[in-house]
Amino acid sequence: MDCDVVVVGAGISGLYLVHAARRRGLSVVCVEAGAGLGGTWFWNRYPGCRVDIESFEYSYSFSPELEQDWSWSERYAAQPEVLRYLEHVADRFELRDSIRFSTRVTAARFEEASGRWRIETDRGPEITAQFCVMATGLLSEPLEPSFPGLDDFAGRHLMTSRWPTEPVSFAGASVGVIGTAASGIQVIPRIADAARRLTVFQRTASFTVPIHNRPIGAEVERRTKARYAELRRAEAGSFAGMANHHQQPEAPATRSALAVSAEERLREYEDRWQSGGLSIYNAFTDLLTDPAANRTAEEFVARKMRESISKPGLADRLIPTAFPIMTRRLPGNTNYCETFDRDHVRLVDLRETPIERFVREGVRLSDGETIALDAVVFATGFDVATGAMSRIDIRGRGGVTLAQHWADGIRTYLGMMAHGFPNFFWVQGPGYAFVNGFQIAEYQGDWIDRAMAHARANRIQSIEPTVGAESAWTAHHREVADATLFPKSDNYYMGDNVPGKPRVPLFYFGGFPLYRQHCEAAVERSYADLACA
Ligand code: NAP
Repeated sequence: MDCDVVVVGAGISGLYLVHAARRRGLSVVCVEAGAGLGGTWFWNRYPGCRVDIESFEYSYSFSPELEQDWSWSERYAAQPEVLRYLEHVADRFELRDSIRFSTRVTAARFEEASGRWRIETDRGPEITAQFCVMATGLLSEPLEPSFPGLDDFAGRHLMTSRWPTEPVSFAGASVGVIGTAASGIQVIPRIADAARRLTVFQRTASFTVPIHNRPIGAEVERRTKARYAELRRAEAGSFAGMANHHQQPEAPATRSALAVSAEERLREYEDRWQSGGLSIYNAFTDLLTDPAANRTAEEFVARKMRESISKPGLADRLIPTAFPIMTRRLPGNTNYCETFDRDHVRLVDLRETPIERFVREGVRLSDGETIALDAVVFATGFDVATGAMSRIDIRGRGGVTLAQHWADGIRTYLGMMAHGFPNFFWVQGPGYAFVNGFQIAEYQGDWIDRAMAHARANRIQSIEPTVGAESAWTAHHREVADATLFPKSDNYYMGDNVPGKPRVPLFYFGGFPLYRQHCEAAVERSYADLACA
């Protein structure tokens, strides 16, 4: 089958790309491995899974009618509601006809003779297309847990990132959870509600902030919808594409955390703690760049977390000390710390007593104790940014694979293209701009749509970044990261969670406004960074 554009993945980005291609009058085929659409929101069905960027912001902005018609029930929508929203979008904009479900792309090869991409899948005929766009997801390729003896374990083995579609009951069960970052922080309180006994195995503690979730009242809905355009402008002007504070759009910070008095700083942090969610990212200009500024936020959050923990000795284990706050993703929570005060919940600090191995009845620790478990839940994360694309045999000019191109770390042009891979793009992948997933999906989707339109209007067969353009962007990308605190901790933004992965910044940390400025400048230069044939 032949088409203009093939899109791989029907999550937030893939759906938007299909919409953009159809709006442009291009023929498009979208290939999706899952049996349904939604990407992240299709696979991560674990109890407690919900957004921690406000629902009003974590949504598409391309259709004001959609914004007005859709009603969110909660300030932070739970997974089923986000999935319903995406299904509604697919139906409303008639996207489903373009999607092949339950089909995994295995290879994508650029054929120099025809100038087209040949896409192989595990089902059905090959697809050829002028343009190939990967929308395979940032956090979509789970890290398979590898613990000695796991195969001997007789209990149930679950992953938050591949949660079953049928209900899972933990009633009367002794459950273990491994992983205490964003997914673990959401699932742990919910499993604690259901299980007879819960053991949490923590290797690295996480800073976390409360989201203060609640139903969206009629007045907040009316007010937000009346100011939706203003909210979207505020998001576009913010560092990470989120701008609500006390459920109202706010302007970006203008002050250093160190330029205000201790009292004023405290008032600011306290106000954001009361507002809830991730608005602390927007409190001051230098929290992600200046260690002293960062420490003020860290001390505040650590103190607040300590206040919510009463079991003796627990706070010292649950509050991180080893990295600057926000250099690892700061997860929002509902009753996370409080959960550990419950009598049937136990924290095992794996830095003190590592897991020696799984055994038939549960987990054996290095001190010889065996913890009996009926089920274990792995919330152990993803091969972030590059994982999904690296599992497809992607070959550009000369048969060079993307894996070869990135053997020493990713090199990209604007986090969307690579030299040697003509007419090939990706959205929300390697070089990901650190921005709310919907905002970046739409922005990158539109940029790619415009680049494809430029090529077609000018009868250009193939476009790809020049070596120089790719090198310049890669150098800028690194320079920007080096000017932040992100490289100062072990974190998945730098590839640290995957053994053997080259340590390079996988995310672009210049902020949404600067990122867009660079992308727009490329268009204004009439795509001079792209070699056209
Ligand atoms: P993650 O941030 O990579 O965290 C994985 C957790 O598993 C860490 O605590 C890690 O500990 C632990 N772990 C991994 N391997 C382990 C091992 N062998 N032994 C013990 N512990 C191990 O993954 P995630 O929690 O799934 O979150 C990924 C991202 O998804 C988030 O940062 C966020 O962007 C997104 N997400 C968002 C939400 C939301 O609220 N909207 C919810 C869930 C996820 P170490 O740190 O020591 O490696």
